[in-house]
Amino acid sequence: MTPSLPEPAASIFVLAAGLVLGSFLNVCIHRFPLGLSVVRPGSRCPACGTPIRWFHNVPVFSWLALRARCASCGARISWRYPLVESLAGAALVGLHAAYGLSASFAVSAAFAAALLVLFFTDLDHRILPDAVTLPGLAVGLAVAWVNPFLEGSGARRAALALAGAALGAGVLWGIGAVWEKLRGVEAMGLGDVKMMAMVGAFTGPAGVLLTLFAASVAGAAVGLAMIPLRGRSLKDTLPFGCFLAPAALAALLGSRTALAAYLELLRGGP
Ligand SMILES: [Zn+2]
Repeated sequence: MTPSLPEPAASIFVLAAGLVLGSFLNVCIHRFPLGLSVVRPGSRCPACGTPIRWFHNVPVFSWLALRARCASCGARISWRYPLVESLAGAALVGLHAAYGLSASFAVSAAFAAALLVLFFTDLDHRILPDAVTLPGLAVGLAVAWVNPFLEGSGARRAALALAGAALGAGVLWGIGAVWEKLRGVEAMGLGDVKMMAMVGAFTGPAGVLLTLFAASVAGAAVGLAMIPLRGRSLKDTLPFGCFLAPAALAALLGSRTALAAYLELLRGGP
């Protein structure tokens, strides 16, 4: 593993890059579910339509300087914008601290960015856009050969990515099909199937199983906790993609450690 660059300058540069990335991810979160281009037109105030000038569009800082209001009409700007920017900034700084400027950094940062968009589009619209999952699947398969999060090297990694994508899609599709038979309702959209194909391409079959396990446990825990709190049924809780996204990132970052620990356990070691 390449050593990280500890100088403050490198960290500040990575943080700035993360904030700018987060600003772009905000545009993706807002526009993908509406089927709009993320390139044109430039950012506009959703309330008055005034184009946002570059000095009013500096991640986090502009939101603070403008006190969460549009410079033209004074409409409130959601705290979600600086939140997504901060999450992307924190993710890049954390991954850079862990991996330095390496293949691990590039792969995990791309994966985290896609998952961040999927989390918020599923939260807002219950949509996991093809514009994220399909290019994500393609990137996952394309970089598999050099993906350090997959066991082995070269051809073995490519095989694991393909197997992971097939397993991820297959399991989610199977669950949906069984659910439809039992209840006569569509349990999950195909968005979940494509999302898990992408997750499998990055994390392999072991990562798919870890992701599904962690997301199911978290989903059940949150669902149970919400029944007395809000008087709602399990059906009204967070969409499953909101659990799959953080679970998938944890699976990617932790899969090598988890697999090693599991194999150690099988061998009877501590
Ligand atoms: Zn405005």
